[in-house]
Order: sequence, then structure tokens, then C-alpha cells
Amino acid sequence: MQLLSSTLLSTVTSLLGLYRPYDVYHVTVMPCYDKKLEAVRDDFIFSVDSKEVTEVDSVLTTGEVLELIQSKSIDFKTLEESSLDRLLTNVDEEGHLYGVSGGSGGYAETIFHHAARALYNTEIDGPLEFKTLRNSDFREITFEVEGKPVLKFALCYGFRNLQNIVRKIKMGKCEYHFIEVMACPSGCLNGGGQIKPVQGQSAKELIQLLENVYAQDVLVSNPFDNPIVKRLYNEWLGQPGSENAKRYLHTDYHPVVKSVASQLQNW
Ligand code: SF4
Repeated sequence: MQLLSSTLLSTVTSLLGLYRPYDVYHVTVMPCYDKKLEAVRDDFIFSVDSKEVTEVDSVLTTGEVLELIQSKSIDFKTLEESSLDRLLTNVDEEGHLYGVSGGSGGYAETIFHHAARALYNTEIDGPLEFKTLRNSDFREITFEVEGKPVLKFALCYGFRNLQNIVRKIKMGKCEYHFIEVMACPSGCLNGGGQIKPVQGQSAKELIQLLENVYAQDVLVSNPFDNPIVKRLYNEWLGQPGSENAKRYLHTDYHPVVKSVASQLQNW
């Protein structure tokens, strides 16, 4: 769930000759309110034909979408199925999602598979089994060659775990090659903008329920087989890390300079 894809979306639609980026009103549905703050950062405003374009025009949380649906009294079960919008779809012809199963995250798993394949010529089967460390939000996985760990990845969710890992990094004692970080414990399913537990239901029960629903009947395909991504690289971006890939897929974050007005509020 990224805002980062927005530049790509704007660029692709414009390259395909469909629309100019400033003609697109881009709404994203996000799991947390933080994404609203992220969308207005200067890092996500760019210029096309001397016009200022915001990458994302409006951010709605999933909870707000639910409120909208309820306010319009829409019953989804009575609606007619429509075909999938395939402009930039993440689903293959058989309906398999390109990626890994689960609610959010998946970067560590995808990159671990890719690193083992690219660096050690090894195909690792199936979903990865991460070993739980202090708690279920801090897990790790190691790939060994001749008994020596050569890849060590971690999943680290929630601020308490993040504080610990940042402390280790500062002390130079962090041994991971890659850490997948998420601010919320349990990841985006537990985001502040998500639907709330019903009366009598604990947050933990709701997360468990959501995780089960997310994994139910979801078949996944290797994201590296996604023909849209392949075409993007073959015809335009070149290879990962190329100048074009950096320009359109990478984002720099800069410190937000507080306006005088907001500083005055602290007085
Ligand atoms: S982990 Fe939490 S803060 Fe981070 S994107 Fe997901 S919902 Fe938002």
C-alpha cells in the first residue's frame, strides 16, 4: 500500500497517451490516516507542462469507504459482477494475485526468494517460515550455504519492536541484510483507518478474522512473472536500479519544514 506508485501511474497513463497527469484525479484507498499527511508532502508534488501536479489528489481510509457505502445503502451482494479493470492490474488471467499471500508486507518474502535465486541459484519453495523471536511482530529467517548464514531477513512491526531494532542499528549490532518495517503491530490490517471491531469483539479477534479472510481462497503468482512489470522493464525502465527506474520508482523523503503558522500554534 504505497503512494510511491502514483508517479508511475501518472507517467504510464500519460505515456500510453490516455491522459495527461493533471487530467487524472487520483484517489487512493489506504489503511491509515497517516497516508493523508504523506500525500501532501512536497516530495509528492511535481511539475508537468509548467503545471503543479499532486501525485495523489485524495486519500480515503478503508473505514471511510465503508462509511460511504453504508451512507448510500449499497448492498454489494445484490450488485452485478463487473469485469476486472485491467489497466494496471496485479492479477493474472487465472485470477491469481502477483505477490505473496497475507494482509500487508510481503516485501521481505519476495526479496528473500529473489536474492536466493539471483545470488545463490536456489529456488526456495512455497511461503517462507519466519521464526518468531520476542513476539509475533518480530520474526526472522536465515538462508544458509554450507552451514553459514548468508541471508538474514527480519520482519519488524510496531513501535516497540522498531525501537529495539533502531537501537541495535545505532550500536552497529544489527546483523540483518533486510528488515521489513511497519509502524502498526500486525501491519496494515491493524491500521488506524481500518474498520473497527464490533461490540463485544476484541481488536485481536478482528485482526485474526481479517488475516484468515485475507488468506482465504487467494492464490498467488510469482510477482516477477507479472507481464506488465516485465514490459515496463523491457520497453522503458531497462533494469532494476537503472536511471529511469530510480527516477520513476524511487522516492526521497525530506524533512517537513514547519510553517510559521503551525509553529505559532505551539506558543
Ligand atoms: S503499517 Fe500502519 S502506519 Fe504503516 S502503512 Fe500500514 S496502516 Fe499505515
